[in-house]
Amino acid sequence: MSVTSAAAARATVYGYPRQGPDRELKKAIEGYWKGRVTADALHATAAEIRRSNWRQLADAGVNEVPTGDFSYYDHVLDTTVMVGAIPERHRAAVDANAIDGYFAMARGTQDVAPLEMTKWFDTNYHYLVPELGPNTVFAADSTKQVAELKEALAHGLAARPVLVGPVTYLLLAKPAPGVPADFQPLTLLDRLLPAYAEVLADLRAAGAEWVQLDEPALVQDRTPADLNAAERAYRDLGALTDRPKLLVASYFDRLGDALPILAKAPVEGLALDFTEAATANLDALASVGGLPGKRLLAGVVNGRNIWINDLQKSLSTLGTLLGLADRVDVAASCSLLHVPLDVTAERDIDPQILRWLAFARQKTAEIVTLAKGLSRGIHTITGELTANRAALASRAASPITRDPAVRARTEAVTDADARRSQPYAERAAAQRARLGLPLLPTTTIGSFPQTGELRTARADLRAGRIDTADYEERIKAEIREVISFQEKTGIDVLVHGEPERNDMVQYFAEQLTGYLATQHGWVQSYGTRYVRPPILAGDISRPEPMTVRWTRYAQSLTEKPVKGMLTGPVTMLAWSFVRDDQPLGDTARQVALALRDEVHDLEAAGVSVIQVDEPALRETLPLGAADRPAYLAWATKAFRLTTAVVRPDTQIHTHMCYAEFGDIIQAIDDLDADVISLEAARSHMQVARELATRGYPREVGPGVYDIHSPRVPSVEEAAELLRTGLKAIPAERLWVNPDCGLKTRSWPETRASLENLVAAARTVRSEL
Ligand code: GLN
Ligand code: ZN
Repeated sequence: MSVTSAAAARATVYGYPRQGPDRELKKAIEGYWKGRVTADALHATAAEIRRSNWRQLADAGVNEVPTGDFSYYDHVLDTTVMVGAIPERHRAAVDANAIDGYFAMARGTQDVAPLEMTKWFDTNYHYLVPELGPNTVFAADSTKQVAELKEALAHGLAARPVLVGPVTYLLLAKPAPGVPADFQPLTLLDRLLPAYAEVLADLRAAGAEWVQLDEPALVQDRTPADLNAAERAYRDLGALTDRPKLLVASYFDRLGDALPILAKAPVEGLALDFTEAATANLDALASVGGLPGKRLLAGVVNGRNIWINDLQKSLSTLGTLLGLADRVDVAASCSLLHVPLDVTAERDIDPQILRWLAFARQKTAEIVTLAKGLSRGIHTITGELTANRAALASRAASPITRDPAVRARTEAVTDADARRSQPYAERAAAQRARLGLPLLPTTTIGSFPQTGELRTARADLRAGRIDTADYEERIKAEIREVISFQEKTGIDVLVHGEPERNDMVQYFAEQLTGYLATQHGWVQSYGTRYVRPPILAGDISRPEPMTVRWTRYAQSLTEKPVKGMLTGPVTMLAWSFVRDDQPLGDTARQVALALRDEVHDLEAAGVSVIQVDEPALRETLPLGAADRPAYLAWATKAFRLTTAVVRPDTQIHTHMCYAEFGDIIQAIDDLDADVISLEAARSHMQVARELATRGYPREVGPGVYDIHSPRVPSVEEAAELLRTGLKAIPAERLWVNPDCGLKTRSWPETRASLENLVAAARTVRSEL
């Protein structure tokens, strides 16, 4: 088929980074929380970011810009507002003041708990979990969606509102507090659809030709009931008379069993991921006979990685697709929310490497190039194709991507390297004897507040206003303060507080060869929290110890054990941009060996407890069940390769957060760690029950202090959580700790909360 025969393909995206070029949105929102920025000024900043994003997209040649993808905190929370599913406990605050009520749902207040937060599929973005129950009444509120559409239209742009689809919304929800745990939010579909119908009608009235409904939940393995719900949802929404054209979007994987259903549904368009899932989606599309009469949005540019596209390959995929739908448009595989804004802002990256990279702005240009090539012929993009081919070739041939010493070492790894010298039960006894801890030992997860002074010191060092010796003096002063606070408070296993770390992944990435750090590569993690994932660009090695001197210094200040603190290999990968030119397992093994040397050096320096954080183990679990065993095999092996080097009486801790752990309990056990701390405060210790039910034999610290909120837990509240924990885990194996690190909290909250936590441990110990 001749590519030139295509109807003009349009270029579009599903969403764009929300923060602004200099994280203006974060600054405005945090200023608003502190009372320094007015609501009007906040709204003005937001409107300006939307305008400049749309301008950027339109100027680059995007034909249809997204609207409604912008958010003050989270697009799932925006959907909760849109369908009126405000939890009872937040109703008064939302009614009194919409924006303050909105932030109260996101962050909680001293009196009212926030919504639970969890990972958005297998990304590092977190959404606020809708809370639904049999009594939930939905009521459409299209204010935000309509306003943002009108804004874009007023700028003279062709715009397409993007909403979280109704099936995904319900599948992401959980039973509200007090509602039986087996309540299925999906049973509310018939009640929810009228709210969507109303929003769709409002958007049409406001001028929307198309509306995109995102259904990424349908790429996961779904039950027949789920699939049936998807079928009904789109049959019913499709049957509405007063509605815009509907585009149902899937991303992050192949659409699977939902594809034939949506192909038949009375909707006008479908968006599919043609990056990693290309083959599966192509085969599935062909086997249903394509999408006659429908628009296909082809996500050929990877929306989650930072590598340039292989334009030639994408063109060939697009060429194949032309025969399978009425009209083929070009897009990124998912919202560009998950990548940084602009490669050209990077000044410190070698220009040789810079040409291998594409952030949101460059990906947009790739999409536009592909759409042009598709509709006007390859000869119209020969310049782009030549440059693209040269950049791809330079990456493939670069010595950065292949280090013979690293390759030789990873080849030589044996199974014994990933196995500890004694089984858990024997080690546990040796560790008990060495550490001499009380029952219900107290500890923290590692970081203490990253104060303004610490950030200033780092900025001063970077700007040359202070020298390394000054900087290190400040870090030491902070460590002294953190150690003395913990001793005074009566915590049993201390930490040095991680003051020297800008970020738990970047800190290590900066010291490992083969890793690149960015200056401006911010991506949203949750709310106003942004991270700068480093880039695993080449083969990884550790030129020298990374953490030993700080831990040794902290240990020199106290008789109590100080935990060494490392980020595990799986999390290093999960929170970095990974290579796309070798299997993830190979990259993980390289990182594991570098960390193994660090573990070894910490132990040699006298450290008796070493925590290797793996908060991301669950989040990178493949969405499809068939891919999970292979992932878990390399992931757990990488952890063991990192840790198995220690003596039996050295205690290995690990830590995880933000997620549902039920389906990876076997993998958690396979890590062969001695102690695990987990997030549990917001879910009332559910994870402790799950571990107990599954016979997990090791020591566990389910969090009793929710660190995602400024709220200070009372002694009684923490004690009650501990008592709940004790129903599942015996006192000999229960630890007392917060949900996660304290770096985002302030000192006053931290002090009060940890004092309460220690008091709660004492109270409950006295009841044993
Ligand atoms: N040790 C890290 C900290 O306390 C762990 C953070 C995390 O799990 N996200 O900050
Ligand atoms: Zn954590």
